[in-house]
Amino acid sequence: MPEKLIDPYGRVINYLRLSVTEHCNLNCVYCRAGQEGSQVAIGKKFLTMEECIAIAEAAAELGMTRIRLTGGEPLVHPDILEIISRLSRISGIKDLSLSTNAVLLESMAFKLAKAGLKRINVSLDSLDENNYRRITGGGELSRTLKGIEKALQAGLIPVKINVVLYKGINDHEIGKFIERTLTEELDVRFIEYMPFLGIDNWQQHYFSLDKVRETATTIAPLVPIRGDHGGPAKYYRLEGAPGKIGFIPTLSRHICSVCNRFRVTPAATLKPCLFSADEIDLTPGFSDKEILKEKFREALKLKPDPKKVYSSPHERVKQFQTKRSMTQIGG
Ligand code: SAM
Repeated sequence: MPEKLIDPYGRVINYLRLSVTEHCNLNCVYCRAGQEGSQVAIGKKFLTMEECIAIAEAAAELGMTRIRLTGGEPLVHPDILEIISRLSRISGIKDLSLSTNAVLLESMAFKLAKAGLKRINVSLDSLDENNYRRITGGGELSRTLKGIEKALQAGLIPVKINVVLYKGINDHEIGKFIERTLTEELDVRFIEYMPFLGIDNWQQHYFSLDKVRETATTIAPLVPIRGDHGGPAKYYRLEGAPGKIGFIPTLSRHICSVCNRFRVTPAATLKPCLFSADEIDLTPGFSDKEILKEKFREALKLKPDPKKVYSSPHERVKQFQTKRSMTQIGG
């Protein structure tokens, strides 16, 4: 029987988020907001191709079957096509995907598919040109939309659209996003904003997904899509719609019991939990795969107890201990 990673609470860890670089070609307001002033450089800023392959091979030998490449922005990594090509050939990796802001997607979609990428998640927080520019710190909406179009043409499906809700900035666009699922075969996933790096005015921008449900039901009845979706997202569709609506309630619900993932940061550390400060340095394992695998087994013991409850988003945020921003972790 091949080995499996099972934590002390019985969760099977089969999904790896591999953050290949901390660098990004956008500057989204909720992602880097905490970096101003408080930010200290933590370790190195990208993984080399050899490191990515060593990590993925070790993970596959430990029964991990899914890898998502993320960042920062993974498409700015100079070796991203070669990394995908090599990772797609690792036996045991059944699902290889990537999260992107789509700035470079129009020119890269076909190359990514050819390299072996199967599907893609795109961050798109506004459908209004000016608002998009404001949220992303200068991004061009038309470029991102063209990138999504090209990804669909290249067969990188399903294309999942991630919308982080930031109160006062894009919550007025919820209805527009939901309505797109009535005519397009897109998965639109709403994510609750998580304040990393001690952003103290976070409540000002936190927007609970309960209100998204209310908006959706004013458009049409919401029909649940049952089944295991391999993570914390819960999916629905508006009655008769081709597209889906996903909810990722990072703060308002207890989602830790379905956590199935490890993260590797661009600094080559293994993070067992997004919110905790625990990290294991993988560097000593790059010379010996058995050492690398042992680091993964060690990380299992650091997965937090999913039964530790928090009574409100506020309580949840008080438990955040991570010292990194989202670009330094990999969302
Ligand atoms: N650059 C790529 C992208 O834009 O998808 C990958 C990295 S980005 C950090 C991955 C995901 O994390 C995106 O969907 C982004 O919206 C989300 N994200 C970043 N900061 C977040 C925050 N503070 N709270 C919730 N989601 C966040």
